[in-house]
Amino acid sequence: MSTTTRAKNAIALNFEKLEMTTTHPFGISYGTSEKTHNVLVKLDYQGLTGLGEAAPAEYHNESQATVMAVLDTFAKSDILGDDPFAIAEVSRRMDKAIAGNASAKAAVEMALHDLCGKVLSCPTYKMLGLSNLQPPITDFTIGIADPDMIEKKTHEAVKQGYKVLKVKQGTSFDHEIIKRVRKAAPDLPLRVDANGGWTPKRAIEMSKFLHENGVQFIEQPLPKYALYDDWKMVKEGSPIPIYADESICRSNDVARLAGAIDGVVVKLAKTGGLLEALKVIHTARAFSMQIMFGCMIESSVGVTAAVHLASLVDHLDLDGALLLSDDPYLGAVYDDGYLKLSDRPGLGVIPR
Ligand SMILES: [Mg+2]
Repeated sequence: MSTTTRAKNAIALNFEKLEMTTTHPFGISYGTSEKTHNVLVKLDYQGLTGLGEAAPAEYHNESQATVMAVLDTFAKSDILGDDPFAIAEVSRRMDKAIAGNASAKAAVEMALHDLCGKVLSCPTYKMLGLSNLQPPITDFTIGIADPDMIEKKTHEAVKQGYKVLKVKQGTSFDHEIIKRVRKAAPDLPLRVDANGGWTPKRAIEMSKFLHENGVQFIEQPLPKYALYDDWKMVKEGSPIPIYADESICRSNDVARLAGAIDGVVVKLAKTGGLLEALKVIHTARAFSMQIMFGCMIESSVGVTAAVHLASLVDHLDLDGALLLSDDPYLGAVYDDGYLKLSDRPGLGVIPR
């Protein structure tokens, strides 16, 4: 009897491949991609559907295939249960079932937040006790390409009205990249992401050059598993703040690097969902760190989920959907530097 009741009210997990194309080939220090191989999650419950997206990254040991395999395991288990509001409990069960695989878990977890908002007819940020007022301006990323292409892409970004640019580094021609970006955008605030491409010595040298060129801060100068003392040396040698991205997945990573970095980059694809992202944010604040909310290259489903937490952070790097030429969803809308949420329930994402 109880089995029948549970089956009837159970949350059904469905998922499919979400393949999208970037407007330009997108280069970072690990490699260049034009296609993004994500996974869309749909949670069906009492006539409502919660949407979530997994944006796996190889440098976090995930791929579209691993996400599909993990979701298949979850779908065949009773991990989701029959209460969409038991989000923390579902996350705990997912962590118990399998370690890592954060982007797969994030897809399920954000879909639960979407579903709960739809059950309550309430936007997710309100459900979490947050406001939709004055989130920071989001930046737009200039990926690695040849110097002429970088100058062209920067010109385009300026023309399109972007207010802050994030420049990818970690090449043998990093100085040239900055010179070309500055040529096309002499006045825009810049930030730099080396994606782990530098040694401590190179990072300190670059920090001085970047400071002279008006760069606000540096993201992930050192490799993912760099030592605490190396981070600390770079922080102390740099005239501008040092943020960690790849090295920070969950809140315990923030505590581990406290004192050796100035800021953290939080992403749902690393935390495994919104609740752990809140923990990362609160832990970083406890250590007086700055916070940027970032994303992978993902559709408006994943990006919009992040925007619901945007009022809590200092900087936004939520341009993932803006880099796509074929985003199939409409969620938070870019308007003169800001990503604006709708008042639709849940994440507020609908098909375009
Ligand atoms: Mg980064």
